[in-house]
Amino acid sequence: MFNKKTIDDINTKGKRVLLRCDFNVPISKETGEITDENRIVSSLPTIKKLIADGAKVILCSHMGKPKGVPSKSLSLAPVAERLSEHLGKEVRFLDYDDVVNDEVKEIVSAMKDGDVVLLQNTRFRKEETKNEENFSKELASLCDIYINDAFGSAHRAHCSVAGVTDFVDTNAVGYLMEKEIRILGGALDEPERPFTVILGGAKVSDKIEVIDNLINKADTLIIGGGMAYTFIYAKGYGIGKSLLEADKTQYALDMMKKAEEKGVKLLIPVDTVVAKDFDNDAEHFTVDIENIPDDTLGVDIGEKTIELFTNAIKESKTVIWNGPMGVFEMPNYAKGTEAIAKTMAEIDAVTIIGGGDSAAAVDQMGYGEKMTHVSTGGGASLEFLSGVDLPGVSAVDEK
Ligand code: ADP
Ligand code: MG
Repeated sequence: MFNKKTIDDINTKGKRVLLRCDFNVPISKETGEITDENRIVSSLPTIKKLIADGAKVILCSHMGKPKGVPSKSLSLAPVAERLSEHLGKEVRFLDYDDVVNDEVKEIVSAMKDGDVVLLQNTRFRKEETKNEENFSKELASLCDIYINDAFGSAHRAHCSVAGVTDFVDTNAVGYLMEKEIRILGGALDEPERPFTVILGGAKVSDKIEVIDNLINKADTLIIGGGMAYTFIYAKGYGIGKSLLEADKTQYALDMMKKAEEKGVKLLIPVDTVVAKDFDNDAEHFTVDIENIPDDTLGVDIGEKTIELFTNAIKESKTVIWNGPMGVFEMPNYAKGTEAIAKTMAEIDAVTIIGGGDSAAAVDQMGYGEKMTHVSTGGGASLEFLSGVDLPGVSAVDEK
């Protein structure tokens, strides 16, 4: 159950509010432009609410992995610019590589109600990812209230996500964080049934914790994508040059057995698109899983599998999807992923997308708007689905 303090529970008028957002947006190496501003747009409701309430808004975020070494290419300057445009007011960018210093403190202390500033990339400080007290304290010294709206960073125990809360009296979650926890948490805790979970993506090993957790909750578990070939292999079929994690064969067998014991329907592909090479233009065709030629690799689910999977989805009242069904970045191998996205978009059910590549696929194919929720947290949504406590969520006070 959702029980965190939110910005609706606190009075921010005239207060200095440090708002942790997830502005870790992709930036084009060639042009320096932001190529996907979904995370910026998703943060706007909370920022607008704080401005409207007359808070002094101090924004912070990390970007990329500078590992404590400031670099121009990972500066948040372009984010400040986009934010200013979206908000229709100046977001002053405090371009200091040490993030917090005396000048920053001075500027913040001179802020007026409704003003907005953005600190430099918190990971320009090496202490950030080590959750070291000194930087947490520096961040805390800037504010009266701390608000975490960075769901995409909630799985990290870092200063600006977790440590800072130890040194600020009042903290809360923002609207985006609230929405993510309510929707993902609600689907896991009290799903309307039948509850179907679709897992795909490259590797079984990336998703073991998710499978372990969800096999106890779902009615149907669908396995596609690169990870499916380890399951197919475990059943005794040849998989040619397809992705294989041989050391996960026993795990796959255990899961299939566990599903049977628990009465969970576990679906794996019955046919697959195979290609001669890992290339969009390579020779490719569809075969049943019993007949995968040695010199090919599986790149997408086949037509029969699409039918099998989408029929199960259509019977569901809650569907969570993580991990593409094939190498969707190559148009010839995107059909399976597209069919799942389309079916989820069409059904009358709670539909949730978690995972960075899955969210990108769904948005790119134009189905994002038709889902109940596309999570903004890649790694964080995965960890959430694994059932582990996220440090950035745990750190925030309960009501
Ligand atoms: P997410 O980010 O949504 O959690 P993953 O990172 O686990 O998803 O997986 C995404 C990647 O899996 C994509 O880059 C996709 O190309 C790859 N993938 C899917 N199916 C296959 C396959 N059959 N062979 C190789 N890679 C695959
Ligand atoms: Mg990914």
